[in-house]
Amino acid sequence: MKTLAVLGSTGSIGTQTLDIVKKHPDKLKVNLLAASRLSETLLKQIQEFQPEYVYIKEGANLPEVKVLSGEEGLEAIANLDIDLFINGIAGIAGIKPTYLLLKNNKKLATANKEAIICLGEILKDKYSDIIPIDSEHSAIFQCLQNGKKEEVSKVILTASGGPFWKRNNLKGITVEEALNHPKWKMGKKVTIDSATLMNKGLEIIEAHYLFNIPYEKIEAVIHPQSIVHGLVEFIDGSIIANLSNPDMRIPISYAISYPDRWETGVQKLNLFEAGNLEFYKPDENKFPLLKIAKEAGKKGGAYPIVLTVADEMAVQLFLEEKIDFTEIPQVVNNVLQEADFPAPKNYEDVISIIEETKILFENLIQKTGGKIA
Ligand code: MN
Repeated sequence: MKTLAVLGSTGSIGTQTLDIVKKHPDKLKVNLLAASRLSETLLKQIQEFQPEYVYIKEGANLPEVKVLSGEEGLEAIANLDIDLFINGIAGIAGIKPTYLLLKNNKKLATANKEAIICLGEILKDKYSDIIPIDSEHSAIFQCLQNGKKEEVSKVILTASGGPFWKRNNLKGITVEEALNHPKWKMGKKVTIDSATLMNKGLEIIEAHYLFNIPYEKIEAVIHPQSIVHGLVEFIDGSIIANLSNPDMRIPISYAISYPDRWETGVQKLNLFEAGNLEFYKPDENKFPLLKIAKEAGKKGGAYPIVLTVADEMAVQLFLEEKIDFTEIPQVVNNVLQEADFPAPKNYEDVISIIEETKILFENLIQKTGGKIA
């Protein structure tokens, strides 16, 4: 029996993780459910999975479980004796738990790319044990098992292109349109990031740290069918690719069952129905965030952190209908231009860069009266 902690249990990754658990009650036991707040969904999950521990940010009175909360609750989680921690927390809220778990050498499967990007420089030696859940990184993780590290010549991440990659004018796009992802069922933040192609930019940085591969060897391609999730090219010219129907339960299941494979219940790929698989070069003029993200990644230091925070805040403003879709890259770029922070040396530095970026962001928005362009 493998014991699991599910962080972000009520979110998109969390609920799909619990779907996997339900399929394998003989193999898996949930020992901890963690969510930011007490919701109907969480209460139902507690009833169904009967974990020993529940973490809620503000705490709650739940007689049947041990309740952990606040900052010391996070520390307590990172000290629990659990076989695998699944981090499905969205955005920068996932940084602290990721840091504590890695510091304590816990086995971690994570979908939280923001944490890897922000902790990038300071936890470099800790990533080789992480099992990625992000679909492209899960794919690459699987492909990499077909050769030696020094035999890898290129790592290729695919992007669906989101809903707008063929559209000419990106002005005036509504929140509803942007949240309507053609292929993947995901949380709001990552869905908007997919529509701006920022998601692929962040994933390039994530791949750089997770697999310790230089940026020159990482590439992104638009693949509208979302059947091929990632590819690794080896020095002999051979490419190993990972294909499946786009369903997050496959990478989640693999992260849990690794190095074995289990049934997921996901419909098997029908190659005849899939038909043509297309690949296109992403248009970085139309989707400047891809380029901006790659540059921030290559610059390193504090820049990947500033990028991550500025994007999360800009996406939030877009979701609140306070800025236009086309202003998301402009705001992020403005914040990056203004930012001048020294490279982080430790976790405390990372947190202070996050806080200072938030202030910088607010100031820039206020200067322009809430409007950017
Ligand atoms: Mn992804």
